[in-house]
Amino acid sequence: MDNKDINVKLLIDTMSVFEKIYDVIRIVNPMKKQILDLKLNKVTELEASCYSFWKKGKVCSNCVSARAYNENETFVKIEYNGEKVYMLTAIPVQFENTAVIIELLKDITNSGVIENIENKDSDTIHSVVNHMNELVVSDPLTNVFNKRFINERLPVDMINSSLNGEPVSLIMVDIDFFKKVNDTYGHVAGDEVIKTVAAILTRSIRKDIDWVARYGGEEFVVYLKNTNKNSAINVAERMRKSIEDAEIKYEGTTIKVTASFGVKTLLEEQLNQEELIKEADSKLYEAKNSGRNKIIA
Ligand code: GH3
Ligand code: MG
Ligand code: MG
Repeated sequence: MDNKDINVKLLIDTMSVFEKIYDVIRIVNPMKKQILDLKLNKVTELEASCYSFWKKGKVCSNCVSARAYNENETFVKIEYNGEKVYMLTAIPVQFENTAVIIELLKDITNSGVIENIENKDSDTIHSVVNHMNELVVSDPLTNVFNKRFINERLPVDMINSSLNGEPVSLIMVDIDFFKKVNDTYGHVAGDEVIKTVAAILTRSIRKDIDWVARYGGEEFVVYLKNTNKNSAINVAERMRKSIEDAEIKYEGTTIKVTASFGVKTLLEEQLNQEELIKEADSKLYEAKNSGRNKIIA
């Protein structure tokens, strides 16, 4: 038997051992953000979402359970619920042919992980912990999310939108002739251009609802929640125009760039995250091949 493939009896026995060591133990489905109850030899979905425990009112950006689920490895992070600081260990297990995550939480409030915690107020502790967690899913150059975030968050947001019957739109953005920018002005100037484009994309979306991530070099993914095709095209057009108009200053010179956009909107069509990205990417490819500085949806 694979050690990750366990039956319900063993799982419940194992949990009772963990109960002696950990303060909170729970089973979650990190894609649906559900807490599962394994009693009575079957999986039951409990009412609460897994992130409601952290009292932030939103999905955790650095979800180690999604990471554990995707990579089939154990991951650890620190999280704070306004009262206590916990170390969270997320362990993937196969149970009745379903992948689930065991989350083991240990109260480490007084362990010294956060220095001088007794003199800090709740907001300060939140910001220390959130900052730590956001670093893991941020791109250091642009401060937008990184590819890891896309892998962990996109499937979750797609499942939720599909359950709510909402459309989702994904925009792939790629700076045009960027190699030429590097060749003409140098790599550091190129970095400035990437940063400016990331800032424009971020400014063009709804904070805390949509998100922007750097997919690679000079390529970005924009996720628009509950957004139909026409609205997504409008957002992309705003982005396109702002990039075209931007005057990027670098060491006394002004650099101008444009970008191309591929937009894919999903409503009833069932695609997984890779397929959605692929669809948006092929629209982007069309935009590149038909003149650049344009949107294909
Ligand atoms: P196209 O219009 O077809 O997209 O042409 P392009 O020149 O933008 O396309 P290509 O993908 O061939 O070139 C992207 C270049 O981006 C190549 C790579 O050296 C550069 N690049 C990738 N990451 C970074 C980065 O972090 N900083 C800088 N300055 N350049 C980068
Ligand atoms: Mg390019
Ligand atoms: Mg590219």
